Amino acid sequence: MSKVIDFFKDYELSNKIDGKLLYNQSLAKFSWLGVGGIAEVYYLCESFQQLEEILTSLPKECKRTVIGQGSNILIRDGGIKGIVIKLGKNFQKIQLLNNIITAGGATLDRVIARYCEKESISGLEFLAGIPGNIGGALAMNAGCFGADLNQIFFAAEGLDYFGNKINISKSDLSFNYRFNPLAYTTIFTQVSLMGSEGDQLQIKKRIEKINDDRNLTQPKGIKTGGSTFKNPDSNISPLKAWELIYKSDCHNISMGGVSFSSKHCNFIENKQNQSANLIEDFCKLIQKNVFAKTGIKLAMEIKVLGER
Ligand SMILES: Cc1cc2nc3c(=O)[nH]c(=O)nc-3n(C[C@H](O)[C@H](O)[C@H](O)COP(=O)(O)OP(=O)(O)OC[C@H]3O[C@@H](n4cnc5c(N)ncnc54)[C@H](O)[C@@H]3O)c2cc1C
Repeated sequence: MSKVIDFFKDYELSNKIDGKLLYNQSLAKFSWLGVGGIAEVYYLCESFQQLEEILTSLPKECKRTVIGQGSNILIRDGGIKGIVIKLGKNFQKIQLLNNIITAGGATLDRVIARYCEKESISGLEFLAGIPGNIGGALAMNAGCFGADLNQIFFAAEGLDYFGNKINISKSDLSFNYRFNPLAYTTIFTQVSLMGSEGDQLQIKKRIEKINDDRNLTQPKGIKTGGSTFKNPDSNISPLKAWELIYKSDCHNISMGGVSFSSKHCNFIENKQNQSANLIEDFCKLIQKNVFAKTGIKLAMEIKVLGER
């Protein structure tokens, strides 16, 4: 047996799991792309204290991975070694104090947007357009329609991968486009965001406009991971990732059921349920072709996790 499985078999003998512990669990249903290998140990976590205890006592060499709603991850077919952590319902509470919204790390972004509408707090409307949860949004510095997490971030709490408590405020973090330096080392269990007093009707209208715009420009009801590639820095290319894909004649490429959506050619449409590696291969082919045609290296926005 593997070290991580040994650890949890022992742990379960003397501790009740607050949440769920599954061994060799398929992760396909935890990714919006609908494919992916297994987690040696999957832990749906409902207790901060237990998470802290587990991360502190788990042998250091055991890998730690955190996932959110799975709207931006591709889990390779070889699966994820070690422990895969997902925060559960106990991390979905929202509070408001002096225009600061504090939400558990597993709270859906769109739920926060609607909460803000109800409380007449403006500035967070764009969250309505991002399908993940707030922990994932912070890890990705997610954004749309000209706004991103960086602009509204106030503070966060969590644990590093070895169980040390983390408290960060805005001045501690330097975000970049779709980049947070603490992603891959930290589990964000609570995130505080700064809004301002606003007019409820205007907030509602802005959220509805965001939803309408997305319905017009983005595919719905398909297996996708959102934007596959990041837009290059404007100093490198004035063209966005989808424009480079289109210009390089890559928008019509298809590989065993993997192609781009006809509505948005930076959104993968996955029509097969056999292989995540195939999606990675598709992405590599696109990167190669775009580079050959334009000299620009497209970087993945989707996070590729696990082993081949
Ligand atoms: C249809 C569609 C549309 C999308 N549109 C947008 C868009 O407009 N703008 C945009 O920015 N993104 C967009 N995305 C991508 C995605 O929704 C965002 O990146 C989102 O913030 C990911 O959140 P998640 O909970 O799904 O995280 P996951 O996909 O599960 O994970 C993404 C990353 O976040 C990390 N992570 C997750 N939870 C935590 C946590 N609690 N603590 C620490 N790290 C964590 C994971 O380790 C991983 O590295 C879209 C995706 C889809 C499918």
